Amino acid sequence: MNLTLKNILSVLGAQWVGEFDSADISHISIDSRSLQNGPETLFFALSGPNNDAHHYIGELIDSGVMNFVVSYIPEEVKNQANFLVVPNTLAALQQFATWYRNHFKFPVIGITGSNGKTIVKEWLNFLLGPDFNIIRSPKSYNSQVGVPLSVISINEKHNLGIFEAGISTISEMEKLEPIITPTIGILTNIGTAHDEGFSNIAEKIKEKLKLFKHSELLIYNSNKTIEAFIPSTTKRFSWSFKDESADVFLVRRNAGEHTFISVTWNERAFEVEIPFRNDASIENAMHCLMVLLHFGYDNLEIKNRLAMLFPVEMRLKVKNGIDNSTVIDDSYSSDFQSLKIALDFLETQKQHKKKTLILSDIFQSGLTNEELYSRVSQLVISNKINRVIGIGETISAFKHKFVNCVTFDTTNEFLAAFDGLNFGHETILVKGARQFRFEKIVSLLEEKTHETVLEINLNAISHNLNFFRSKIRPETKMMIMVKAFSYGNGGFEIARLLEHHKVDYLGVAFADEGIALKTQGISLPIMVMNPESTSFTSIIQYGLEPEIYSLKGLDAFLKIANEKKLEQYPIHIKLDTGMHRLGFEEPQLAQLISVLKENKSVKIKSILSHMATSDDLQHHAFALGQIALYEKMSSLMIAELEIDPIRHILNTSGISNYAEAQFDMVRLGIGLYGISNDASEQKYLENVGTLKSILSQIRTIPAGDSVGYGRRFMAEHETKIATIPIGYADGISRHWGNGIGYVNVNGKKAPITGSVCMDMLMVDVTGITCKEGDPVVIFGEDPSVIHMAKQLGTIPYEILTSISQRVKRVFYRE
Ligand SMILES: *Cc1c(COP(=O)(O)O)cnc(C)c1O
Repeated sequence: MNLTLKNILSVLGAQWVGEFDSADISHISIDSRSLQNGPETLFFALSGPNNDAHHYIGELIDSGVMNFVVSYIPEEVKNQANFLVVPNTLAALQQFATWYRNHFKFPVIGITGSNGKTIVKEWLNFLLGPDFNIIRSPKSYNSQVGVPLSVISINEKHNLGIFEAGISTISEMEKLEPIITPTIGILTNIGTAHDEGFSNIAEKIKEKLKLFKHSELLIYNSNKTIEAFIPSTTKRFSWSFKDESADVFLVRRNAGEHTFISVTWNERAFEVEIPFRNDASIENAMHCLMVLLHFGYDNLEIKNRLAMLFPVEMRLKVKNGIDNSTVIDDSYSSDFQSLKIALDFLETQKQHKKKTLILSDIFQSGLTNEELYSRVSQLVISNKINRVIGIGETISAFKHKFVNCVTFDTTNEFLAAFDGLNFGHETILVKGARQFRFEKIVSLLEEKTHETVLEINLNAISHNLNFFRSKIRPETKMMIMVKAFSYGNGGFEIARLLEHHKVDYLGVAFADEGIALKTQGISLPIMVMNPESTSFTSIIQYGLEPEIYSLKGLDAFLKIANEKKLEQYPIHIKLDTGMHRLGFEEPQLAQLISVLKENKSVKIKSILSHMATSDDLQHHAFALGQIALYEKMSSLMIAELEIDPIRHILNTSGISNYAEAQFDMVRLGIGLYGISNDASEQKYLENVGTLKSILSQIRTIPAGDSVGYGRRFMAEHETKIATIPIGYADGISRHWGNGIGYVNVNGKKAPITGSVCMDMLMVDVTGITCKEGDPVVIFGEDPSVIHMAKQLGTIPYEILTSISQRVKRVFYRE
């Protein structure tokens, strides 16, 4: 569809501010980082309680974007671009998407429910893909923002839509319904997710069903409570394993890892085989079966297609690659929308200059191949990809569209040529449709380490950051403590994300940590808390900012600063107000002030102190005493030296308990990584790190046999034992063994039997369905680091920072 600014203006009823022109718009964006933004982009500046995209408009103008939908025009960009001013930019995006959606008349499947939405969507896309040109929500784009963005990608060639809608509270669905307007509805299930957003189950059901207000048909798992709320105009199409009066009655029979299901619908009766046995997968597959029945597929076709269902991988994973490269693994789907998302993600990983894209044929774009590969080539150019490796017959035929491109007809041909292709010191995005089996490519590109990984959820970090931002005044600055590899979570990647979120400062413990971040390209100012005098020269060389906590340190730094003829070099003054770790004490202030008064080579960027008991309200009076002393000492320095430094004293639990003492900045540490000292606050934080491994070997031992060193576990009855390749050298405390701790195997608790060894531990998996190679969670949601710390008599900080550097860190976004 041809869009111009002029027609969008009238759709939105916006106020126009700028030079009038009716530019063509070919791209709608809300992501300031995307390199796909350009002259034909219309940028919607969304603003939430913690993040306001209006702040990025200046940067976007510099990169060539000219058209913006805004709720106000920031002073610094006045008269520099075209603005469509609306009361609320999110509402405008939704309004635009609704208008856009109304131009298309084909069937649209709308999916909502508590669990399984994305899997049902991906499976339907796979099952119906051979017969339709499908447009679907990319990844799990199902929110108030994700739904409009998904719908805006429809084009004239599509003839079936599959969109998911997720809500967390009332009145959200009525905004999504007109944007999707599904003709066919699927309600996956009503679980307990987001219960806090609804006053009772009926309210939640009613709200979800609003998606189907205009649907002709609703597919659901037969359930009387739900039926009471379905509008009479909607045709019901229900299935059940229990209720014989459901439209489709099913009987289930397990067979190893597979499940046979006999299907009875009117006169039709047949059997299908699902390559899964867990309840959730069966439920998801049944919703898909219903769609196939509704679309009139015959028994054999349904049976054949369902037998090919596969596990869905929804994440983009970042892995360490061979020869110092970084691999972004998106090897399970290839469509134009998800390619755009993956390229945007690539851009956020700026570690290497060079970028390679390994791409398979793209299916279901709704475009002719000629047009599709022209667009892909445009994307490749705007994302500054240095090299394209195309795999598949179609992309090979369009090789001429790309600069610096090699192609192969099949994945195997690529694998045979692998050694000559020279990968290294670059970021490699691996993006391919499932049938190309790009996991084989990823496994060659991946750096070989053992199977234990610490997975870091970058979305959760953003969420937690925003949570703490919402607790402080908007003008209060934020320093994020990324010492000790961001509390064990990984240095560069997290710093890079924080840079995007425009935090004000990073804090590290030692100069080396700061140097590593600067060398990798982090440009945020970095405070070094514990700068040894021997590191002062490199601190200056890398533009790091030292914390000065003693007269001796100050003298040493001033000496070097004077030698190098520095002027106004930023330093931070640490005051000891009761922690008695580092810092100037009150009696030393006079001398400190007199030394600083004479000096022009340094500038006091900030004055800080640290609280000893911000997490423990038993010591409330002591904490208030520290704050008061800090106020007094810092005020004296400010008055005597006539300076205007940033003042800061609060760490994470300080923000929770003493927000009134936030001064000009706070220093967030553990909270960013998902841990609060306050149980009521904990439920608002998201888990960041999940330590995972696998079951390497499983054996059954008879009663009376023992497990491990010193025979510290004795089997009282026949016991199934599994060995996991993680031990105390990886950071798992020996105190966590011998029945105290457990790991999570396929959702069940498996107690650790015997002592934790250096590189391995053994667990009791009696009664747990599992096989060798299955994944195991050592910590994450369950057991949580908080639980482990409590059991082990320590604090979460120690558990997180103990995970050794030999454990590979893998970063992902949902
Ligand atoms: C580590 C540290 C912080 C952060 O503490 P959290 O409890 O993790 O928020 C703040 N300030 C100083 C001086 C620190 O050493």
